[in-house]
Amino acid sequence: MKLEELQALEQRYLMQTYRRAPVEFVRGEGALLWDSEGREYLDFLAGLSVCSVGHCHPAVVEAVREQAGRLMHVSNLFFTEPMVRLAERLSESSLGGRVFLCNSGAEANECAIKLARKQAYRRGVEEPEIVSLEGGFHGRTYGALSATPRLAENEALGPMLPGFRSVPLNDVGALRDVVYEKTAAVIVEPIQGESGVYPASEELLLAARQACDEVGALLVFDEIQTGMGRTGSLWAYEQTPVRPDLLTSAKALGGGLPIGACLAAPQPGEALEPGDHGSTFAGGAVTSAAALAVLDLIDDPALLRQVRELGAVLREGLLAIDGVEEVRGRGLMLGVGLGEDVDAAAIGVDLLRHGLIVNVPEPGTLRLLPPLTVDSAQIERAVGLIAESLLTYLR
Ligand SMILES: *Cc1c(COP(=O)(O)O)cnc(C)c1O
Repeated sequence: MKLEELQALEQRYLMQTYRRAPVEFVRGEGALLWDSEGREYLDFLAGLSVCSVGHCHPAVVEAVREQAGRLMHVSNLFFTEPMVRLAERLSESSLGGRVFLCNSGAEANECAIKLARKQAYRRGVEEPEIVSLEGGFHGRTYGALSATPRLAENEALGPMLPGFRSVPLNDVGALRDVVYEKTAAVIVEPIQGESGVYPASEELLLAARQACDEVGALLVFDEIQTGMGRTGSLWAYEQTPVRPDLLTSAKALGGGLPIGACLAAPQPGEALEPGDHGSTFAGGAVTSAAALAVLDLIDDPALLRQVRELGAVLREGLLAIDGVEEVRGRGLMLGVGLGEDVDAAAIGVDLLRHGLIVNVPEPGTLRLLPPLTVDSAQIERAVGLIAESLLTYLR
């Protein structure tokens, strides 16, 4: 089918919730993608940080193939081994408590919100409040959406859930002011992804930890984007001075298949009981098998060291480019701040035309999220392409 035909059918039959770039991809391997005309692309977006082990990693493909050929689904009324092993592995690699498996990032946050409300209820709080940060992104379902201030403003989608408040990123005083006895949780991305790669400061994280401890609220880290090795440690919290009570994961967890997880510390992990929560597909055998294969690849000191090292090389290469004003983020999650006179969207389009896939989350920023398995030659190639594009643009 020709691209024009695909575009016409997409317009006719898919709800128009996305603006897609005019490319049809048909194949992927590692950090490379090929379109329907056989053109090769270097993928520095990795399906929005989903394909962190690269496209079609043979170990993940094999795990999926093997499990799909043996048993795909039986429901949560029974036991399956991949689900249990995955929960064990996630818990032991993070907060040490129980895990709720689900199918997406938004769902992982829904679980965190529900769990936090139940904990607050047990403390006698009647109208619990969840505090989030401006610029944060937690997903599109109503709970997650209500915790996403920029999108929750969309009146046409209202009303949002009651009991959500937000404060500016890294405003310690404002955060302290809103956390009180009724606060059920504070939800934070260690590094905000969708808004353009803006890290939460250590002061903010420490203040959030302390404020939550003072009132018995839960500190939730949304690590759906920062987790699974993206910042150079399995979880981003490991490189901060605080430990959350709940951690949500998704995106890279399934290596391309849809899976999410809400990971708890031991005590909050006890809160949800039969009847409180559930999901038909959750903990499915195929997605769990995929996630176990992904964890085998990512929860590896050598790979994580490489993420830190290549991240530093990428950052330095970017900072040396004319037109790059700052580079934010950590590991292989980088936001490239361009000068005010640079139209980042135009740069993004130009890069795509030259075979480099990046993302433009806000007017002045390119976001780079390459597969964690990227090599130094590919990093160099990406830096060269960005330099060339900016040079042409600024000339
Ligand atoms: C992508 C993302 C989500 C939402 O995940 P979905 O799988 O799209 O529901 C939530 N939080 C963060 C930080 C994300 O990056």
